[in-house]
Amino acid sequence: MKYRSTRGKSSGQSFENVVLEGLASDGGLYIPEHLPSLPTDWQTAWAQLSFPQLATEIISLFVGDDLTHDEVKRLVTKSYSTFDTTEVTPMVDLDPTTNTYILELFHGPTFAFKDVALQFLGNLFEFFLERRNAQKASNEPTHRITVVGATSGDTGSAAIYGLRGKKNVSVFILHPKGRVSPIQEAQMTAVLDANVHNVSITGTFDDCQDIVKQLFGRPAFKKDHSLGAINSINWARILAQITYYFYAYFTLVRQGVVNPKPVFVVPSGNFGDILAGYYAQSIGLPVGKLVIATNENDILDRFLRSGKYEKNSDQGVHATPSPAMDILVSSNFERFLWYLARDNEVPSTVSLTSPEQAASDIIQRWMDQLKADGAFAVSDKALEAARQSFWSSRCSDADTYATIAKHYANGKSSYLLDPHTAVGVYVAEKLRADIDKLGSGNVHTICLSTAHPAKFSEAVLKAVNDNGHHLDFQSILPPPFVGLLEKPKRCIECENSVDAIAKIIVDQAAADSTSQ
Ligand SMILES: *Cc1c(COP(=O)(O)O)cnc(C)c1O
Repeated sequence: MKYRSTRGKSSGQSFENVVLEGLASDGGLYIPEHLPSLPTDWQTAWAQLSFPQLATEIISLFVGDDLTHDEVKRLVTKSYSTFDTTEVTPMVDLDPTTNTYILELFHGPTFAFKDVALQFLGNLFEFFLERRNAQKASNEPTHRITVVGATSGDTGSAAIYGLRGKKNVSVFILHPKGRVSPIQEAQMTAVLDANVHNVSITGTFDDCQDIVKQLFGRPAFKKDHSLGAINSINWARILAQITYYFYAYFTLVRQGVVNPKPVFVVPSGNFGDILAGYYAQSIGLPVGKLVIATNENDILDRFLRSGKYEKNSDQGVHATPSPAMDILVSSNFERFLWYLARDNEVPSTVSLTSPEQAASDIIQRWMDQLKADGAFAVSDKALEAARQSFWSSRCSDADTYATIAKHYANGKSSYLLDPHTAVGVYVAEKLRADIDKLGSGNVHTICLSTAHPAKFSEAVLKAVNDNGHHLDFQSILPPPFVGLLEKPKRCIECENSVDAIAKIIVDQAAADSTSQ
């Protein structure tokens, strides 16, 4: 199994390189050169597997010779042992009258779906680094990586919990001082492991992101510190997420559903979560439809309607009650666009010889257009093809609150949705009639739940209590959150300056390397 960049200038890369490098050097995203096939008996052989067993089988299909089946098994088992349920991603009924379910992806250490991928990525980093170092002569310097990321909340805490205490890894997470919710700030800064460095910047989230981009743009700095990326462009994150689509399918099978063909509704921002569903479908999982649910930052929904991928640049990013989906463009969409281009935009004269390179050339052109004009458009044929896999809709802020309130007040079936999950549930209900037509009234709709409601308690309490209820903050807290705000914290404060941050990284990473 080898990997190529969507931009076409890097190919034949091993899984290990792709994981450690993150973004390809040509600016593209790594995708498998060929999709693996499932074992012919997967539907029976995998039906009773536990989540870690299933993850082992699926991930093993994509790692080539870089990891043995046994090594994958050990990494996966360790990664999911931190979840608070052995099911890892349990599925619960939301509305039995319409066969609608919630797939709870928030049972990891930070209570957001990003844990499913980042717990695994942290262990992978550690494994690959240890193996590289074991092969070195004793007088060679150890191979280390320095992870630098910016966060407005969710990614930062999941990355910190994925990488805390990992050998040969230093982590620097930049957040805007005073602009992250108190729970999220406490989640990050109460992690006291020596290799974890929270930095609060006097500035905005965009300032933090700018600093990270500038650091990655300094070739000497990038090389000297082996900067590593943990955002969702990293292929290992997509890969780890494929498992729960299969797990949900088998959960239906174990409940007695014959040949399910579920519809998955996914609250989407950077398109990483739902892209894993597309890969699951591409390698053979029966899927009725993948439904993209966006908040008011709706570039993906507008694309599915018009075929035009267009930044909403006059207004910028809209701050919504579902902040982990507040994006201008979706970074992982490029991976899907590559397949769309290869199968629909490459002229037939070329398609026999090198459709892959032709697809990459088209991607490069589209991305150049996006940068220059803020938009590009695909052909009608490509748009039709995109709609074969994906449907979409958007949910306003008002509808997000209303959906939370409605399901909380739903008597015996009361369920407390977080605002991201509520966006998906709203869209599932809005498209109900179309979804039903897919399977003559017998379709199973699985709404992916991406966060525990306590993580976004402000929006949740507002939604519920503005409608006459009296839910209080303490009562929705999962046990690890209780007392979190009072715990000892460690955080470096820094002015909004790339040089000042660079100095912190140089000093702290040097200290980490001598102490580990
Ligand atoms: C990251 C995140 C999302 C969006 O997922 P993408 O992979 O970026 O589409 C949705 N909800 C929550 C809670 C998240 O943290």
